[in-house]
Amino acid sequence: MSTSVIKESHKQEIEKFMSGLKKRNPNEIEFHQAVEEFVQSVIPYIIDHKQYKDNYILERLTEPDRIIVFRVSWEDDEGNIRADRGYRVQFNNSIGPYKGGLRFHPSVNLSIMKFLAFEQIFKNSLTTLPLGAGKGGSNFNPKGKSDKEIMRFCQSFMTELHKHIGPSCDVPAGDIGVGSREISYMFGQYKRLRDEFSGVLTGKGLAYGGSLIRTEATGYGCVFFVQEMLQSKGDSIEGKNCIISGSGNVAQYTAEKINQLGGKVLTLSDSAGFIYDKNGITHEKIEWVKKLKDQRRGRISEYADKWPGSEYFAGQKPWNVPCDVAFPSATQNEILEEDAEALIKNGCIAVGEGANMPTNIDGVRVFEQAKILYGPAKAANAGGVAVSGLEMTQNSIRMSWTREETEKKLKEIMKRIHEQCVEYGKEEDGYVNYAKGANIAGFVKVADAAIAYGVV
Ligand code: NDP
Repeated sequence: MSTSVIKESHKQEIEKFMSGLKKRNPNEIEFHQAVEEFVQSVIPYIIDHKQYKDNYILERLTEPDRIIVFRVSWEDDEGNIRADRGYRVQFNNSIGPYKGGLRFHPSVNLSIMKFLAFEQIFKNSLTTLPLGAGKGGSNFNPKGKSDKEIMRFCQSFMTELHKHIGPSCDVPAGDIGVGSREISYMFGQYKRLRDEFSGVLTGKGLAYGGSLIRTEATGYGCVFFVQEMLQSKGDSIEGKNCIISGSGNVAQYTAEKINQLGGKVLTLSDSAGFIYDKNGITHEKIEWVKKLKDQRRGRISEYADKWPGSEYFAGQKPWNVPCDVAFPSATQNEILEEDAEALIKNGCIAVGEGANMPTNIDGVRVFEQAKILYGPAKAANAGGVAVSGLEMTQNSIRMSWTREETEKKLKEIMKRIHEQCVEYGKEEDGYVNYAKGANIAGFVKVADAAIAYGVV
């Protein structure tokens, strides 16, 4: 259902459901937002498919299986004792072990963990792989910490988390603030505590069970998804001006794949501002950004000092830069209604969400009313978890696939996700509402499994 044309009777059902959910989960704003966006498509579908209502599926699916909250004590380089809070939300394992990343960022709270884990249910279902859904992390701020401090924090975090995860039970991965360095420290600690070498985390180093293409997967997958949307209109990425927010894992590999497919990347950002490079952020410049962010842990403002013809805009987001395609790849709620309006006004024809829930509900409405190609996070950024699923398979069969094989599988998965969105999201006038398609297609598989299990 396009958020702009919700029927009155459906609206009442949605409001009733949301008012109960808000009462049960007070002050969890991001969780409310993620569920509201989802039920706007799914409640109208459930009204026409009585089995889901009779089985109380929506009420069951919006209640996590369990939530683990724990203290993480660690010591900094000056010998001060610190304490942060750790989380793991095991939301739903109807179709596979809990699967979803760990986020280390000072903004992390229960609401953000729950919204991310909830969205993960339908994203993982869309991949067509046997993956349940979870999410975790900590309000620990990795910025400015030494390697040793990061290591001590990760070890302490895993000292509690290891009791709750396992290769057939719950398999975490990375997210904001958790890259290959953090995954390696946590995997090392898990191995030490459990005395076992197993695929308990994904995003591991290649020498110890990692998969080729996992690092690239979310960004590459997002560009493949946008390419599918454009091709459905007889168009392609080639020659398109693209703007990207963020400069971390997802942003870097989105930029890389756009370049490979003949598009031009104009912007990157971080939480302090964005850079605009009218000459295009080419392969050489992306390699420099990777080193800046991943090795030197620097700021994107340094880009403008290094590359002539580029400019830095402190405290601003890139959405006013004219473009054909936008790839929000930093964080939640980074595109608000006015940003979406600016994008449309300046000629944007497609959006691929690399980040999770980067567009707020009003922004989504603007995209849907303008009938542009809007690829929601659940579908567009599912490539990361899909290759995590492939890493789990390779760990189980104790083999590793080549780069070419893995990228081919990723591309096929993104194509299948696109097909499912079209199947469930095509409206009477031919417009494909990808958000509706992703929500319903992701929902049906999990809901059918839940019904088959009986009352559990
Ligand atoms: P990284 O930590 O590698 O990079 C995050 C980037 O986003 C950094 O440039 C960071 O800037 C910026 N950022 C973070 N928080 C904010 C904020 N509040 N405001 C503005 N900018 C911010 O994370 P990832 O690239 O892995 O993740 C980016 C997004 O993609 C997240 O929404 C994540 O959930 C989603 N995602 C990631 C997947 C993965 O495989 N990694 C899979 C699917 C989705 P700064 O350095 O200043 O903090």
